[in-house]
Amino acid sequence: MIPYSHQHIDEADIEAVIKVLKSDWLTQGPNIAAFEKSLAAYCDTQYAVVVPNGTAALHLAYMAAGLAEGDEIITSANTFVATANMAIACGAKPVLCDIRADTYNIDETKIEALISERTKAIVPVHFGGHPCEMEAIWAIAKKHSLLVIEDACHALGAQYKGKKIGGLSDMALFSFHPVKPITTGEGGAILTNNKQYYDMMLKLRTHGIVKDPEKQKAIGGWYYEMENLGYNYRITDIQCALGYSQLSKLDAFHARREEIARYYFDKLKNVPGVIPPTLLEHVKTSWHLFPIMVKDASRRKEVFAFLQSQGIGVQVHYIPVYKQPYYQRLGYDTGAFPNTEQYYNSCISLPIYPDLTNQQIDFVVEQLSRATS
Ligand SMILES: *Cc1c(COP(=O)(O)O)cnc(C)c1O
Repeated sequence: MIPYSHQHIDEADIEAVIKVLKSDWLTQGPNIAAFEKSLAAYCDTQYAVVVPNGTAALHLAYMAAGLAEGDEIITSANTFVATANMAIACGAKPVLCDIRADTYNIDETKIEALISERTKAIVPVHFGGHPCEMEAIWAIAKKHSLLVIEDACHALGAQYKGKKIGGLSDMALFSFHPVKPITTGEGGAILTNNKQYYDMMLKLRTHGIVKDPEKQKAIGGWYYEMENLGYNYRITDIQCALGYSQLSKLDAFHARREEIARYYFDKLKNVPGVIPPTLLEHVKTSWHLFPIMVKDASRRKEVFAFLQSQGIGVQVHYIPVYKQPYYQRLGYDTGAFPNTEQYYNSCISLPIYPDLTNQQIDFVVEQLSRATS
């Protein structure tokens, strides 16, 4: 089976993990800060907080932003459910926005109409690693005094107008699941240049507990106080050592992903039944996904099944959030998202990951050509 995505783990990664296993610190040790520092440096950002997964990263970012009962966020209808779910976990309401027909990202021209007195943040999702139109989004946020929190789970290493995704908005968050640009098994991180958000996320990551040296001096060395309702959102040193080792290879991963994308573009010229993805001039995508659209949407199901039967692990990203039974019960309206509907009805994500060979790509395109002709 050729999967749609796959991690690349080498001997250096394995050595790094073994080294931690032989050390005193499996968690709450020195590898946490080392990984955070390297992530922050890679993204030209001041602070990074690492957590057990991207969903926890969304939850902590929303909590640090003060998202609560009665608030709303605006995010893309074309995302993984966690982006919306964690707003609900904070008591807030996710308001979904339609996507652009070219990049499948949130349509920045449709955001303003969704803003209400309750809107607190815009949460753009860099779909497939292709950055959203951030300047337009920042302008809307500024005009309406909203925060911008980027769900950059696909986009570690992507660039918007020459700048790395990470420190460009109030916060940006990443996932290190094995299908994402780098992996820690499970993992995630929030990046920010805001010290207040940073301090709050560190606190909430460990149960909302603080240890004040002054109070410890007065009361005793054991003393701590719980100031906020937090969680155990700590990630292990084992995972962070893997992440640190993986990050050193990220640029090489990207270089190969870019080669793969160019190879696909070239080969797909001879496959008239599909629409390849659009790449805008002023961004550098991380090529997390290579989403194509089947021109004759009525054949998507059959094309998908054929590719799977040939051992090609294609996927569909994403079933729109509003279609999920949970969101249907909350009254989300399926009719409000024409571009999302059209995209969802015809999309297929082709395999793309650093170890994919040109020979495998040839096979994928050949089968795709057979299935769509
Ligand atoms: C993967 C992903 C998440 C969740 O990350 P996990 O690490 O799986 O919890 C959230 N949003 C998007 C867009 C993702 O792709």
